[in-house]
Amino acid sequence: MTTASSTIQAPSRNSAIDAATPPSLEELWMPFTANRAFKRAPRMLVAAKDMYYTAADGRRILDGTAGLWCVNAGHCRESITAAIREQAGVMDYAPPFQMGHPLAFELAQQLTRMLPDGIDHVFFGNSGSEAVDTSLKIALAYWQAKGEPQRVRFIGRQRGYHGVGFGGIAVGGIEANRKQFAGQLLPAVDHLPHTHDLANNAYTRGQPEHGAHFADALEDLVTKHGANTIAAVIIEPVAGSTGVIIPPKGYLERIREICDKHGILLIFDEVITGFGRLGASFGATKFGVVPDMMTVAKGITNAAVPMGAVCVRHAIYDTVVNTANAGIELFHGYTYSGHPLAAAAGLATLEIYRTEGLFERAASLESVWEDAVHSLRGSPNVIDLRNIGIVGAIELEPRPGAPGARGFETFVKCFEAGVLVRSTADTVALSPPLIIERDQISQMFEVVRGVLRNVA
Ligand code: PLP
Repeated sequence: MTTASSTIQAPSRNSAIDAATPPSLEELWMPFTANRAFKRAPRMLVAAKDMYYTAADGRRILDGTAGLWCVNAGHCRESITAAIREQAGVMDYAPPFQMGHPLAFELAQQLTRMLPDGIDHVFFGNSGSEAVDTSLKIALAYWQAKGEPQRVRFIGRQRGYHGVGFGGIAVGGIEANRKQFAGQLLPAVDHLPHTHDLANNAYTRGQPEHGAHFADALEDLVTKHGANTIAAVIIEPVAGSTGVIIPPKGYLERIREICDKHGILLIFDEVITGFGRLGASFGATKFGVVPDMMTVAKGITNAAVPMGAVCVRHAIYDTVVNTANAGIELFHGYTYSGHPLAAAAGLATLEIYRTEGLFERAASLESVWEDAVHSLRGSPNVIDLRNIGIVGAIELEPRPGAPGARGFETFVKCFEAGVLVRSTADTVALSPPLIIERDQISQMFEVVRGVLRNVA
C-alpha cells in the first residue's frame, strides 16, 4: 500500500503490548464507533510517548491528531504524569460544593492570565460537552439577573459541533448527531449557515477571502426572532469536528459587531481551537475577536485527566454572582468540577506550554505545515485542502452512493501504514501535537500521499 520508506518502523514489544488482548470486546459499547465493524477488526492502542502511539501489534503510530485534538504537548509528559501521581497521593478528591482546594483556584488564576483581557472568571467541568451546556446555562442566568428573562433563544451554526449534551446537540448543527434525539431538543434554537464554500474558496491557504457575508444571516435571525429574545450565539472559531471549516476573513469580526449591536452574548467554543492549536493561545487571540464566554477542554490538561471549563467576562460573573441574594448564586456544578487530579494536570500542562513556548512553536511551524498540506494537491480524489495553525484538512470527493466510505478507508489505511488521522465523512483532518518535528511532518504527509494513491 505504501512504499517501505514511508511506512513507520515497529519498535520492540513491551509489557503493555503483551497485556493488550482483552478477553472479550463484546461488553464495551464504544462511543461514536461502528461497534460491530470495530469488534470484527479492532484497532487497539496500548501505549503512547511524545509523538507516537504504540499499537497492540507493536507498531509505532505517528499521532497525526493529538489523540482527539487534545494532546497538544505530546504524550505522557513526565511533569504532567508526576503532578497527577503526586496529587493522587496527597488528596485524591475534594468536594467542590461549599468546599474548595487550592489547586482549582490556582489553575483558574493561571488560566485567566492566558485569556484575552476582560475574560477573568472560570467555571470548571469535566469535558467540552459539559463546558458547552454550562455556558448556555450561564447565559440564561445572566439574562435573568439582568432583568431580561425573555432572552432564552440560542443561535448555533449549521455543521457546528458542541459536544453531546442536550444543549450541545441542540445548538450543534451536525445532523447525524441530532436526528436520533430530534424529538427532545431545546425548543428555542436557530442556526446560522455554515461558511464552507468550495466553489469560491477551494485550496485556500489560511483564511478564505470570500464569505464574510455569511455573518449577515445573524441580522436576518435577529429580525425573525427579535433581538430581545436571543440570549447568545455560540460558534467554533474554526469548526473542527465537521471537517475543518476556517472562518472567512472578516466573518468573526462581523458576528461580533452584530452581537454588540443587539446586546447578544457571543460564546466561542474553543474546545479544539484553544491551547495553541491555531498558533496562538486561543482562536480569540488568533483572530483578534474577543467573545463574552469561551468554552475550553481537551488541551487544558493535555488530555491526561478529563477537564473542561467556561471562561467568562467580568461583567457576566459580576451580574450573576454579585447581584444575587445571599446564598448559592448559580444552581449548577459537577461532582468533579475542578477535580484535584485534573487541576494538578492542568497546572503542569500550562507550565509546559509556557516554558516550552509551544504556542509560538506552532506559529513558527505554520508555513511548513501549510506547504505540506497543500503538497497533496493533485492526489487522487482530493477536491480541497485547508489549513490554519497546525490544523489541516483533506477533502475527498465522496464515492457515488457511499458518502464517507472513501474518508473512512483513508483513515484505516493510514493507521495500517503507521499514521493516525481522523476522518469525518470524506474529510480527513490532521492536528498533531505541537511538539511535532519538521521531518515528522514530512513523514506524515508522505504516508498520507501514499495512501491516497491506493484508495480508489
Ligand atoms: N465542542 C467542540 C468544539 C468540540 O470539538 C468538542 C469535541 O470534540 C466538544 C465541544 C465536546 O467535547 P467533549 O467530547 O470533551 O465532551
